Amino acid sequence: MNSEIAFISDIHANLQALEAVLADIKNQEITEIYCLGDVVGYGGNPRECIDLIRACGIPCIQGNHDAMATGDFGTRERDINPKARLVIEWTYKALSFDQRSWLAELPMTFERPEFQAVHAMLYEPTEWRYVLNQELAELHFPRQTHPLCLIGHTHQPAYWVDGEFESRAITGRASIDLQRKQVVNVGSVGQPRDRDPRACYTILRPDLNEVQWQRVNYNITGAQYAIEDAGLPFSLAERLQQGR
Ligand code: ZN
Repeated sequence: MNSEIAFISDIHANLQALEAVLADIKNQEITEIYCLGDVVGYGGNPRECIDLIRACGIPCIQGNHDAMATGDFGTRERDINPKARLVIEWTYKALSFDQRSWLAELPMTFERPEFQAVHAMLYEPTEWRYVLNQELAELHFPRQTHPLCLIGHTHQPAYWVDGEFESRAITGRASIDLQRKQVVNVGSVGQPRDRDPRACYTILRPDLNEVQWQRVNYNITGAQYAIEDAGLPFSLAERLQQGR
């Protein structure tokens, strides 16, 4: 068993952020990496991001933007904001048939001895609800069979404990109590929304029962140019430097 496992999520076609995060993971000599979905959507380099994830052999689960980019808008089509939809339509056309097939065949969950993982939540995962408060976390917890489940989707690092009323503040590290159920949101590589524009990912240390959120500086301007070059809405470029 590896002593450290890295989790990346919500890359959103931001190649500059993905490259910076993979370099940071490599610098720490971590070789086991999982991706929790949303490789595409919002950003200007969906093809390159899919190719890089595949070339690195990183196991990946499906996110809502990945599903939509294959043409599957699911049952929550009316909830999709118009800008996200515009990018999805552009992404669908930009991807090759082979890339869309890869996205379509991604599993919805991972289950390993050390953890479970899902993009949104374990309760009706294809409904893509957000774990944003304890009430929503309580929908998820009955489906969780391991002490630790890792998620993405909200683009905000977070730590939820079954039976507690508030998510705990995230400042670097948190410990995993094997007697309880915990949900860890690993944050977003390519479109952080917690007012910190740096790329975010999470390291799990199973031997220490510890998770650590890691922030990485990357070439935000390059990612903004890619959005502009693709002719996608300027506000999607702007929000990257604001981390929202
Ligand atoms: Zn996302």
